[in-house]
Amino acid sequence: MGAGFGFTCKKCGNEYQAFLGSGMMYPSIYEEVMGEIQSGKYGAELQELSNTIPYVAVDAEDAVYYCQNCGIWEVSPIFILYGPRDMEYIQREIEEFGHSPCPWKSTLKAHYRIIRRYYHKCGKCGRRMRQLSSHETSSLPCPKCGEKNEGSMFRWD
Ligand SMILES: [Zn+2]
Ligand SMILES: [Zn+2]
Repeated sequence: MGAGFGFTCKKCGNEYQAFLGSGMMYPSIYEEVMGEIQSGKYGAELQELSNTIPYVAVDAEDAVYYCQNCGIWEVSPIFILYGPRDMEYIQREIEEFGHSPCPWKSTLKAHYRIIRRYYHKCGKCGRRMRQLSSHETSSLPCPKCGEKNEGSMFRWD
């Protein structure tokens, strides 16, 4: 299950909608994100860790990242890498499903530990972007004209 937000800009009329968290499609999104990490799309370090840590996992949920410097934001997977903390859990999953799990957030928190954080960099100025809380996400500048808009949140799954 996830949350989203949307707005119609009061200044320029641009409509915007973003989906956050994880929905029904999560398992296939998870596989895609992990595949991209393993192929090096997000840097050599994540690539190496994701190919060498046994039963590695990733937080593939989407979040909003904000550059304080430029005032721009983007929706991106969280990309934090996890390794197993609870091997009994992993073994149970493998016995049951025949492969290592693609864990949801609650599972990551319960049975894994963080191996490597990922810092999202602003595509414009290169500085580190900050992950916004869902509260902060409800008021974002319009990507087109920069006007601040009160968005409305919705739930989806
Ligand atoms: Zn606008
Ligand atoms: Zn920036």
